[in-house]
This record gives sequence, C-alpha cells and structure tokens, in this order.
Amino acid sequence: MLSYMSDVREPKTYLAHMSLIPVLTRLGLKFGGVPYGIGIWNTPFINDKYDTKTLELYRAYKKEVDPHNILNPNKFFAVKTKMANIPGIMFKPRIFRPLIRISATVIPILGKRASPKGDLKEESVLEKIVYSCIKCGSCAAVCPAYLVTNEESVTPKNKLYLAKKLLAGDAISKIDSDKIFLCTHCEMCRAVCQNDLDLVTAWTELEKLLESEFGAPEEAIRDFVSTMESSEDYWRFVYNAQKI
Ligand code: SF4
Ligand code: SF4
Repeated sequence: MLSYMSDVREPKTYLAHMSLIPVLTRLGLKFGGVPYGIGIWNTPFINDKYDTKTLELYRAYKKEVDPHNILNPNKFFAVKTKMANIPGIMFKPRIFRPLIRISATVIPILGKRASPKGDLKEESVLEKIVYSCIKCGSCAAVCPAYLVTNEESVTPKNKLYLAKKLLAGDAISKIDSDKIFLCTHCEMCRAVCQNDLDLVTAWTELEKLLESEFGAPEEAIRDFVSTMESSEDYWRFVYNAQKI
C-alpha cells in the first residue's frame, strides 16, 4: 500500500503528486510487488493481481450474487463513470500503462514547477494533523469514548473535522465544542493511527483552543467520567487492551 505525503492545501502540487501513485505502483510491480487490493486506482493493475482464470471465476461469482451490480459498482473489474466515461477509458490497462510512462517523465517536472517557493510556514501539531488524516476510521474502532457514548461526534476523525473548521475560522457551536472534551487521552487512537499521527498532543492543543473560546464543560466531563466508570463495556475494553 502506497503513501506519498503531500499538502492538500496546495492543489497544483497535490494533483501532480496524486498522479505519482500509478507510477509508484508500477515501480512496485517491477520489483515483485502485487496490488494490495482492487479499487479505482488499482483497476488498471487487475491483471497483475489475478490470472485470467481467477478473474473469470470472480466475474461469474459477482454476476451470480450481485446480478444488478449494486455492490461497489463500476470500480472492481473496470471503472465506469458518467460524462462519456472518459476516466473509465483511461483506466483500461492497455491505455493506462502508456499514460503512466508519459507521466513518469512529465510529472516530476510539473510537480517541481507547481511546488510553492519559499520557506514552509511554522505550524502547530494540530494544524499539521488536521491535513494529514486520511479518514480511514481505524481510530474510531478503538476509541473507548465512542464505545461508551455511541456518539460519532467524539470520534477522533470527527474531532479533526471540527478542528479543521475552527482553524479555517468557521463557526462551531458550544455543543460541538463540548463533545471534544469527552476523551480519556488513553492514546488508543494514537496507537492504531494509519498515518502515525500524534493525536493526543493534538487533542491537548484543541482543548486549549476551545477552552479559551467556550470554556471547559465541567459538568459534561464529570457525567462522562461517571458513565465510563459504570460502563461494563468500558471495563471490558480496559481488560482487553491490557492483554494486547
Ligand atoms: S485518546 Fe480520546 S479520542 Fe483517542 S482513543 Fe482515547 S478517548 Fe478516543
Ligand atoms: S486512524 Fe489516523 S488517519 Fe485514520 S481516521 Fe484516525 S486519525 Fe485519521
């Protein structure tokens, strides 16, 4: 699985870097790698993952269990889109491969030209993390605050979404702000983060920012702690976490 760090706030550089994904995939294949799965970006490499016989079996199975093509449509064996299906045509292996060869020559030049000049701006941990989260959702699955409250708004992914709004100067409500404080700083999100983000430092920064604007919701925090303490799910979670 490929990761290539880029800054979404610089659209031209970001697009140039995004086009590097197939170039890097091709390089991986050259050295014996295999696509980790199939999705839009790996569709052009489907023949590198499955031989013809296996592909036929999968096609037949898909037709049998999903005759109306409802499950993940138009992304697996071939990409299909509206608007004359131009991306679908480009993603066909026979057309895609020559395009990658051209990209491998052109993109480094474009990327260099598009890159912002001058020194990088100083940023806090929170600012960096807000734009580095890939929204995979792995952190929500291990967050005890989410487990006990069952509220999406306390998940790390959602906290980063709110932080992004806050840093962009958009209005957020006190109700939204209060949810941010429902966190044990247990570091479970940090431990599983797919992008190795220093999340707990970010939570501390975010809480400070919100505290200066809305104040800390003392009563909500007390209720949260007492809900956690009386929750069997929480103690089961603590017990299982200790065994890992
Ligand atoms: S530190 Fe907070 S957000 Fe992260 S897993 Fe623990 S409770 Fe959830
Ligand atoms: S695990 Fe990390 S990258 Fe994935 S959604 Fe959570 S914070 Fe974002």
